[in-house]
Amino acid sequence: MSGLDMYASCGDAELMSKATENKEFTMCADHNNPKELFHFETRMILCSQCLVDKRMDRDLCVEARKFCQALMQRYVTLLDNATYMPIEHVQKEKEYGIPWRSAFKAELEAFTETAKKRLLGEEMKVELADEPFVFFHKIVKKDALDAATFDAMSQADFMCMMLDNLEICEQWLYQIKALLKEPDFHIFEDLKTQTLEQVLAEQLKMNPKCTI
Ligand SMILES: [Zn+2]
Repeated sequence: MSGLDMYASCGDAELMSKATENKEFTMCADHNNPKELFHFETRMILCSQCLVDKRMDRDLCVEARKFCQALMQRYVTLLDNATYMPIEHVQKEKEYGIPWRSAFKAELEAFTETAKKRLLGEEMKVELADEPFVFFHKIVKKDALDAATFDAMSQADFMCMMLDNLEICEQWLYQIKALLKEPDFHIFEDLKTQTLEQVLAEQLKMNPKCTI
């Protein structure tokens, strides 16, 4: 999938408008080369000559493009989920009935409380009064747009700073999504635990830290 197709797949016009076909690089001021490599230990983006000069190990780097694209793909997928979950929620409420609805509402509110507490410290411009699905969509979209800005310039260093927030949002939203698909609310607790384990395992695999 090309970079543009990837952005388009989330169907978000604003994000799509930030996508550029040709990704650029910031230039190394010392060597006038593109900073194409991302060094994990120092979390710096470097040009190939920097590595030589600083005697850094190439094996401890990943391509900045690959790193950015992998994270961007995760944002696009997450935003897609945040966009369609409210629609699914309306359907499921009808389908599963009132007791399910109350149980789900309590779960959703608990996630929202946790998220608001955590993210408020980070100057997130979210309205406390927002309805939960609107709230989650806003925070994911804001981060996805920031990530797209970094992606356009292959700034893996800035992108990497977003990883913690991305992961926690994935954990929340994929748990909520699992609950939405489960008609039996009596197993919500177990389902959350299982889903979180799956998400954590998946994140460990996806996290480029572990693939180098
Ligand atoms: Zn350099």
